Amino acid sequence: PWNFSAGPSMLPPSVLRQAQRELLDWNGQGASVMELSHRGAPFMELARGIESDLRTLLAIPDNYRVLFTAGGATTIQALLALNFAAPNQRADYVVSGHWSQTALKQARPYVNVQIAAQPAPFDRSPDPAEWTWSRDSAFVHYTANETIHGIAQREVPILPADAPPLIADASSSIASEPMAIERLGAIYAGAQKNLGPVGISVLIVRNDLLEREGQPRADIFRYALQAERDSMLNTPPTFNWYLLGLTVRWMLEQGGTRAFRERNERKAHTLYEVIDGSDGFYRNNVQPDSRSIMNVPFFLPSADLDALFVQESQRLGFIGLKGHKAIGGIRASIYNAMPQEGVDALAELMTDFKRRHG
Ligand code: PLP
Repeated sequence: PWNFSAGPSMLPPSVLRQAQRELLDWNGQGASVMELSHRGAPFMELARGIESDLRTLLAIPDNYRVLFTAGGATTIQALLALNFAAPNQRADYVVSGHWSQTALKQARPYVNVQIAAQPAPFDRSPDPAEWTWSRDSAFVHYTANETIHGIAQREVPILPADAPPLIADASSSIASEPMAIERLGAIYAGAQKNLGPVGISVLIVRNDLLEREGQPRADIFRYALQAERDSMLNTPPTFNWYLLGLTVRWMLEQGGTRAFRERNERKAHTLYEVIDGSDGFYRNNVQPDSRSIMNVPFFLPSADLDALFVQESQRLGFIGLKGHKAIGGIRASIYNAMPQEGVDALAELMTDFKRRHG
């Protein structure tokens, strides 16, 4: 069965098999990694190795810290404001879809939120040259890949030198292709798409942002302190961290982000080609240069046909193709773990379905 779920999503089978093999006896310890102290030498060493692998995979510059945090991307969205903005300081948000709106909502209690750009309807990533922001803002926030709408800002924008630091939510696109992290003040992602299991997130943040005073908050919400304590201020989600590590290692073995860019572009092209060649039977409403290579949403001529397509796909063993309830339709999430073979099978189903119902 091919799993097109948007997140939690498919993990590489070899990662799951390794986790299964090591479930009762990890690293010769006679116990599962989830049963061992995070402060013991074996886990500390594992965590250091994972950070090193992630730095290699994403080409993270030395002046950035990498935090592994419990909770999701939404947690980070709230804590960004508490850590990197003064109380009620302005922060500028590019709103390109559902998840940008969520990010903005999480920050609103703490900062003076301004909208830097917001296309209506959501059908493209707004041109960075048209974003509005203030030099006095704490940061500019954008969503690199809108998971529900299938809208991507694939190139990290270069803002003028006097612009505030740029922060990217890359939850659904991290490691899908090379990314110029050095243009960003911070970048974050929930792990449950390209990086592994849900329950752990990654925040990559430039040192100077960690020096900001931020707002009154408990120590547990202090990213600078988390960085000082190697993300172990309290008990971290060790098993998730370990699975993330296996997934990162797998991506390195597969050739890294350049190899994935090539594969992901090909997978996405396969689906967009069927959509665009269907004489309007399948519709994707995103402008071509903003189309995501991770999430491909599309609509059939009626909600009934959408439902029938989902039903039939499930009967054939496809998982997770029903679109998000916010916009309906169908959505194929084709993260790094999804091989071309799975996408080809979906393209075949689409072609066949159109022949019977078009
Ligand atoms: N940002 C993006 C782009 C997402 O796709 C998601 C979830 O799918 C989130 C944020 C929220 O992540 P979480 O559920 O880990 O809080």
